[in-house]
Formats: sequence, C-alpha cells, structure tokens
Amino acid sequence: MFESLTEKLNSVFKSLSGRGRITESNISDAMRDVRKALLEADVNYNIVKQFCKDVRDAALGAEVIKSLHPGQVLIKIVNDELTKLMGPVDTRIYFVSPGPTIILLAGLQGCGKTTTAAKLGNYLVSKGKRPLMVADDLQRPAAIEQLKVLGEQTGIPVYSEEIKDAVRVARNAIKHAKDSGNDVVIVDTAGRLHIDEEMMTEVANVAKAITPHQIYLVCDSMTGQDAVNSAKEFNERLELDGVILTKLDGDARGGAALSVKAVTGKPIKFIGVGEKLDKLEEFHPDRMASRILG
Ligand code: GDP
Repeated sequence: MFESLTEKLNSVFKSLSGRGRITESNISDAMRDVRKALLEADVNYNIVKQFCKDVRDAALGAEVIKSLHPGQVLIKIVNDELTKLMGPVDTRIYFVSPGPTIILLAGLQGCGKTTTAAKLGNYLVSKGKRPLMVADDLQRPAAIEQLKVLGEQTGIPVYSEEIKDAVRVARNAIKHAKDSGNDVVIVDTAGRLHIDEEMMTEVANVAKAITPHQIYLVCDSMTGQDAVNSAKEFNERLELDGVILTKLDGDARGGAALSVKAVTGKPIKFIGVGEKLDKLEEFHPDRMASRILG
C-alpha cells in the first residue's frame, strides 16, 4: 500500500536525518521534494500546496533548525499534518432503535461496491448485528447473482426481486427486514461506468424513498483523482456520511486517500484492503499517516 509514496518521502527525510543542524534552505529543498512526491502520488494540486505551506509553517514555528534531530522533528510534523489532512473521522455506525438501521452504498461500477456490501455485512455480524443485504443494483445484470453468491458465502440473507424498479425493491426490502427481524439493511445500488444524470436520479430517488441513516460512497482508490472527483459529484447530490475506499492493497500512490476528506469534507470511514470478505478495516488517519511514512 502506497509503496511508491512511502519510498519517496523516506528518501527526502533520510537526506535530512544525515545532517546535524539544518538551515531554512534545507527545509525548503525538502518541502520541494515532498511536494513533488505528493503530486506524483496524484494528490489534488491545491491540497498539496496548502499541505506544504502548513508543514513549512509548523517546521519554522517548531524551530526545526535549532533542533538536535531536525529530520525526526520534521517527520513528526509531516505525520501530524497528514493525520489532520485525512481526519477527523468517527468510524462508529450509530444504530437506530427501533431498527432497522439503513445503510445505502453508492458508487461507480467496478469500484467494489457489491463486494463491500458483503464485507460490511460481515463486519456488522462481528458486531452482533443481523444484517440484510439488498440487491438494488438492477442495471448490471450479474449484480443480483453476485450478491446472492456473497450472501451464501457469508450466511447473510439477500433481498432481491425480479423487477426493474429500484425504489420499490428498496422499500419492499425495508419492510421485509422489519418482518424478519433484521436490524441493519445494506442497500447495494446501481453503478455505472461514468456518472450520468439517470444514475444520479435513480440513487437520489432511492435515498429519498428510504431515508438511509448512513450513505457511504464506495470509491476505487486506484483511480486517484477520478475517485475524488466522483466523490465530489456524488456528495453534491446525496449528502454522503462518508467514503469507503477500496483496493488500497493495490494502490502504490495514495492520492485518493490523501485528497478525499479535504476535497469533499467527508471522511473515509472504511478501507478495503483485499478481495477477501474479511478485508475491510476501519479507517484511522493517524495509523494511515504512520503507514505512509513507513
Ligand atoms: P461493483 O461493480 O462496484 O459492485 O464491484 P465489485 O464488487 O464487483 O468489485 C469489482 C472487483 O474489485 C472485484 O474483482 C472485487 O474482488 C475487487 N475488489 C473489491 N474490493 C477490493 C479490495 O479492497 N481490494 C482488491 N484487491 N480488490 C477488490
């Protein structure tokens, strides 16, 4: 995860750690390299600019120059600023009583939404919940079948209907959950290759009809700034509660993870770190910052 970024940042800090005292111009050089590394990691340009300014200000304020271990002090500052950039985030899911708590998943096709529905289901089972998954992606023919297979693998029930009305399926599913004693409903909505009006209207209509307690956007981290831009567009239509960023295990760059919160104002709540159904983790900005810095 983020190997390329980690390697580049490490080499910047290594060149500083080798020195005893450093000068302001050493810091400027280091920040130029940090900036380059972040841009190459596909972090949003404006965010990189602000980030580097914040680090520089903090470094000068902390008198890194006078410190005996300037490299370490700077790493700590970068670590803190990275944490700030990705947070704060409350990963708790607030359950309503009486239930069911409704969670809606939106996202582009191929981002890992259906897999994430099952991962989230598994996560909720581990918290003692009895989730129901709803196959409400009626656009992609294989999506219903895929969710049913995932349902069998996880032992989580799946609600589906052979009709083309996503709003009705979602409404019926909630009623079914109430009748069956499911306390959480995870709704897997339709994805498309690109955001289009029809897709946005459908998912917005589903959201309006069932008023979810949580709306998560599932994004593929490998798509970098495209993921961030789609998050921005979805957020304008859906009042997202957060983002679930998938495929971090295959993302060497990290641009999406570092940009989403600052661009959309919505935090990453969970990350997908593998294809297997237990590969979903709560997102902790401080731990992620440490991982990035190796
Ligand atoms: P959907 O079209 O958004 O429903 O996407 P799918 O759930 O079908 O996932 C698309 C592909 O991404 C599948 O091959 C998944 O196994 C894979 N995938 C999903 N999440 C992750 C993840 O966190 N890591 C990796 N490596 N693959 C993932």
